[in-house]
Amino acid sequence: MSVGSIKDIAVIGAGFAGLSAATYLAKAGCHVEVFEKNADLGGRARQLRTECGYTFDMGPSWYWMPDVFERFFADFGAKPTNFYELKLLDPEFSIVFGKDDVLEIRSGMPDLYNTFEKIEKGSALSLERFLKEAAYKYEVGIGNLVYKPGLSLREFADPALWKGALRLQVFSSLSAHIYKYFKDPRLRALMEFPALFLGARPEETPALYSLMNYACLKLGTWYPMGGFGKVVEGMKLVAEQQGVRFNVEEPVTGFKIINKKIRNVNTLYRSKTVDGVIGAADYHHIEQELLKPEHRHYSSRYWGRRVMAPSALIFYLGVNKKLRKLKHHTLFFDENLDAHSDQIYKHPRWPERPLFYVCCPSKTDASVAPVGHENLFILMPLAINLIDEEQIREQYFNLIMERLETYCGEPIRPNLDYEKSYCVSDFKNDYNSFGGNAYGLANTLLQTAVLKPSIVSRKVRNLFYAGHLTVPGPGIPPAIISGKIAAKQLIKYMDGYEG
Ligand SMILES: Cc1cc2nc3c(=O)[nH]c(=O)nc-3n(C[C@H](O)[C@H](O)[C@H](O)COP(=O)(O)OP(=O)(O)OC[C@H]3O[C@@H](n4cnc5c(N)ncnc54)[C@H](O)[C@@H]3O)c2cc1C
Repeated sequence: MSVGSIKDIAVIGAGFAGLSAATYLAKAGCHVEVFEKNADLGGRARQLRTECGYTFDMGPSWYWMPDVFERFFADFGAKPTNFYELKLLDPEFSIVFGKDDVLEIRSGMPDLYNTFEKIEKGSALSLERFLKEAAYKYEVGIGNLVYKPGLSLREFADPALWKGALRLQVFSSLSAHIYKYFKDPRLRALMEFPALFLGARPEETPALYSLMNYACLKLGTWYPMGGFGKVVEGMKLVAEQQGVRFNVEEPVTGFKIINKKIRNVNTLYRSKTVDGVIGAADYHHIEQELLKPEHRHYSSRYWGRRVMAPSALIFYLGVNKKLRKLKHHTLFFDENLDAHSDQIYKHPRWPERPLFYVCCPSKTDASVAPVGHENLFILMPLAINLIDEEQIREQYFNLIMERLETYCGEPIRPNLDYEKSYCVSDFKNDYNSFGGNAYGLANTLLQTAVLKPSIVSRKVRNLFYAGHLTVPGPGIPPAIISGKIAAKQLIKYMDGYEG
């Protein structure tokens, strides 16, 4: 990718999508400035450092699809290991179905086949067949489909793609697909869990996304030592090597648009003349809050009908002792998933009997907590747009801690030396997040590829979108890919191609 003459580009937002887009554009020869509202880079993957010695990853904790990170760094002559050390987690994670009913997922296939076979006779063979199909979907999906800009169905008119179209299973649901292979409810829960990253119920997620099972079970769950902030730091360094300039605590407030082109990007402090813009903050915020009505392609009704991925109630906790029973990742599936999903998507309200997830990175990484302490990140998925007053956060804190303490077999609350909650209103205030979503737009069938909010603005010719509300979807690897696709589209536009 390269542009004919030097162009001035503004990138709005320094999450993974903005970092990625900015770096590709700078490599293509553009002058790139990134404007970030918050004090730190990384967006939802920022870190929280406390005076008492804890470093919390504020968002992501699962490092999946290492090949996508490798490909990004390789595009700039680098490797992830130039910036951070990756550890393969073993066990990858545990799922708690009841106090004494815990499924531990070890890294490596022989262990996994044994685990499956012990739970359901014949399921090891089913898993082998399931993962073979999923491997094909991963190869086509992550190697090819996710890099398409989703502007026209013609992008998919590739004979090689059509030949294998049936195997991709875009039109059947992931839950039905899983049910064909596994009958035990625990195995089904295990196989459905990666879909939660896509922000939709497995019933509404295309079976194509069993590629996530391949990513999780075959490629493994990794952890960047020092936390996800190290990945952000690595991407920042690569961006700066390419000449990108970062402006933090400088939110974009609007644009000067003449003849359907952004001429100036206005920030809290100045107005910058530009040739092109990448909108890598939440799409809805840029479209509905920064653009004037005549420059918006989508209506508020359109946005109101989108299925958003959930929000979350999160607790960042410092514990002044070690917790013997906890592993790095523990999923508490000891309540009914369908009932909780119903209260996220169908009848949005605070859940009666929530499922939740606990990450304890200090099990792997001594740098994230003081010696002898634990760093706990607890997340409960939640419907968007709920009211999240202190009193209700406290009520859920106690509900979750009671279950966690029972599981651990020891008190935790008397040993807390740091405690912070984060919820819907914080997502809105900190990231201008639509409805307070945590994970962007859900990957349902009707919100896939060309059916997602377009990466290209239909009303403003030099504005292109990146991030988890457009193609390819939620999660860090898709956000990085999204930045690359948006950068490529902007470069094409600047070189005179507007089709
Ligand atoms: C709690 C949580 C857990 C997650 N867990 C995982 C996980 O384990 N693995 C995984 O792969 N993914 C995970 N995700 C998803 C992943 O973090 C996101 O999909 C990804 O980080 C989104 O990147 P982005 O660049 O699209 O958006 P963001 O990270 O939100 O970046 C957008 C940036 O734009 C900035 N901004 C907003 N408005 C303006 C403005 N007006 N001017 C300037 N800047 C502005 C924001 O401050 C923000 O920094 C998780 C997300 C959350 C919230």
